[in-house]
Amino acid sequence: MSAKKANLSGELKKYFGFSTFKGQQEQIIENLLDGKDIFVLMPTGGGKSLCYQLPALISEGTAIVVSPLIALMKNQVDAVNGLSSDDGVAHVLNSSLNKTQTKQVFDDIKSGKTKLLYVAPESLIKDDYLDFLKEVKISFFAIDEAHCISEWGHDFRPEYRNLKQIIDKIANVPVIALTATATPKVQDDIQKTLGMTNALVFKESFNRPNLYYEVCPKINVDKEIVKFINQHKGKSGIVYCLSRRKVEEFAQLLQVNGINALPYHAGLDQKIRVANQDKFLMEEVDVIVATIAFGMGIDKPDVRFVIHYDFPKSLESYYQETGRAGRDGGEGHCLAFYDPKDIEKLEKFLAQKPVSEREIGLQLLNEVVGYAETSMSRRQYILYYFGESFDPVNGDGARMCDNSSNPPKLKDATADLKKVIDLIKDTGEKFKAKDLISVIAGKETAVTKSYKLEQSPHFGFGKEEKDNYWKTILRQATVQNFLQKDIETYGVLKIAEKGKKVLSGKSKEVFLIAEDREFDLTQAK
Ligand code: ADP
Repeated sequence: MSAKKANLSGELKKYFGFSTFKGQQEQIIENLLDGKDIFVLMPTGGGKSLCYQLPALISEGTAIVVSPLIALMKNQVDAVNGLSSDDGVAHVLNSSLNKTQTKQVFDDIKSGKTKLLYVAPESLIKDDYLDFLKEVKISFFAIDEAHCISEWGHDFRPEYRNLKQIIDKIANVPVIALTATATPKVQDDIQKTLGMTNALVFKESFNRPNLYYEVCPKINVDKEIVKFINQHKGKSGIVYCLSRRKVEEFAQLLQVNGINALPYHAGLDQKIRVANQDKFLMEEVDVIVATIAFGMGIDKPDVRFVIHYDFPKSLESYYQETGRAGRDGGEGHCLAFYDPKDIEKLEKFLAQKPVSEREIGLQLLNEVVGYAETSMSRRQYILYYFGESFDPVNGDGARMCDNSSNPPKLKDATADLKKVIDLIKDTGEKFKAKDLISVIAGKETAVTKSYKLEQSPHFGFGKEEKDNYWKTILRQATVQNFLQKDIETYGVLKIAEKGKKVLSGKSKEVFLIAEDREFDLTQAK
């Protein structure tokens, strides 16, 4: 193994034709070959697949790659097979194979020829597969799209939940988990569920400095989008809408306005859908109007704008969807239209879901509203969501958002911050923002009553200000690391180190806030 490790660059060149590793790929591979458990958090396009493909190709035995989508697996297998002069170094194992094909896969694994075996988690639990895999040499496990383990991720799959038990049954070998979803909550869930809290974590920045983020009130939205696209004539762009009906209507509206646009959603006939996608990729059409069904695996480098006609359900999806802009490093304008009424609709939709899904959905929506209404750097806000700090003045891409290029007036709110931290301390660090605001504003609720918060000396101390002001304070104090959200309970606000210094009077830091935007659309023209 060590000889191979010493010549990793040579192996990279031999199999992939690349001269250098990207980001932290080399350290990741070295540590995996050393037998360590690894957790990789890298944005899409970061080069995750190579982190397990290369070590699999040069290790003894077969690496088992768990992946959620059969369609994507097939592409990966073809790609890996194209890398090596030997045929059959990668295989898919699933129920689509007939008996002869399955036997061929088993034979190739036994003979040591198969280096990567792609399986969906639901296949892995089948007894005959399990019995077979227990008997052969496994080099390591790679869990791709590891966020599917977490209900807080954007693609929860219950079959991922039991992976740890299945892996333990098969072999005691290293595990590498990979994902492009990096919220601290999802990360925590993955590590706990896979029993890899001691894994080495490799995290790359999620910052996309060339993307410009902008939020506009949803007023005259059709006209505004037509105007925007006309200002970007001939450029490629995506407009996301929530419903299939809206997608069709709006694509038509764009066409009527002389814009070269086509619709895309899962309800369209397969042939039309594929044709529309291909036309976009081949530049025969400028704009695709789509539901979120569009984009998985789309790699068009020169998408110049991503517009959200309707606001997304989570910041995570927003990041993924806007991430399709500016892949080539050039301009990428991400414009979202916001109307609190749309959020109410999404909330109503969640009301019909089971309790846990509803709770999570509401928390995620809360973050989206925070993003929409914030006056601080949108990049800082998004990166905070991914557990990353960002300097809104000197960071890479610092001026690339509406709030930063046209900064709002700042106000010193240090005194109010101290009052809020005092309240959190005295109430035992166990309440979410919503409940804290009820106490600050002196509003009785079921929660305030059950904890007798009305008797607290803090009750109602901030009733002169609007609730929104206190929401802003709590949100910005969190993003600026005076407070932190508890990972276990999500939402519950605790006092962070910086906040403790404010309490003890040791902090010299001034807490500046930009008052959040008020989205009163009653003025709509
Ligand atoms: P991810 O899975 O993180 O989205 P991929 O594994 O699909 O990313 O890789 C994204 C692109 O980067 C692919 O086109 C891949 O060939 C390329 N790539 C990966 N590693 C390297 C490297 N070391 N040098 C050059 N290109 C690389």
